[in-house]
Amino acid sequence: MEYTKERQEVAYFMRRLYERRLTTCSGGNISLLVDGDIILITPSGLDKGRIEAEQIGIISLSGENLTPSLKPSIETEMHIRVYQSRPDVRAVVHAHPVVCSSFAASEKEINTSLIAESRAVLGKPAIAQYAFMGSPELAAIVARAVAGANTVLLTNHGVLSIGQTLLQAFDRIEVLEAAATITLITHLLGGKRELTGAQLSELEPREEHSLEINEELVQLITQAVLNNLKA
Ligand SMILES: [Zn+2]
Repeated sequence: MEYTKERQEVAYFMRRLYERRLTTCSGGNISLLVDGDIILITPSGLDKGRIEAEQIGIISLSGENLTPSLKPSIETEMHIRVYQSRPDVRAVVHAHPVVCSSFAASEKEINTSLIAESRAVLGKPAIAQYAFMGSPELAAIVARAVAGANTVLLTNHGVLSIGQTLLQAFDRIEVLEAAATITLITHLLGGKRELTGAQLSELEPREEHSLEINEELVQLITQAVLNNLKA
């Protein structure tokens, strides 16, 4: 079997997602990028609590199914577009955790300024507007949202996270669900105490800083090119 070890890892994290009650037996999907242009992705229509390595599909980044006997996830295009949008990413996890999904169906936002872990792991989640599940529109909307965030709330749908490893992407889903639960409980308790601006800025994830630097560099280079054209 091709990519045995990597497909075992994808299957393990899918079962873990289900066992941790972060998705239903029919919902959610996980992928891993290997060799730069191949994604290993969970299948459609199978019990997510019992997924095994040989059921993990192999798809090229151009969308070709290299395991035609397996039906890939209906959200395969969304995963492909996310990898195209974020070349630094190696893993994508999409799920429908109950508390996060409740926020995705509400106008209230998940507060990542309450607990240090939430801000350090998540930064500030992006919000993607609603589009039909499995559609090219949803794939395009989510690809735009991950350009500036590591976690995305999909309106009236669920959540998606990215990472350099499967563990990092899984952790972000787990911490986001915890942050959503903490937001709800502190609201019920009353007397909410948020981290201060200074405390939050020392917790900003490193990736966010490197994104800022890249944006600055892009602007500098663009300006230099424009100046050259004018000269
Ligand atoms: Zn979904």
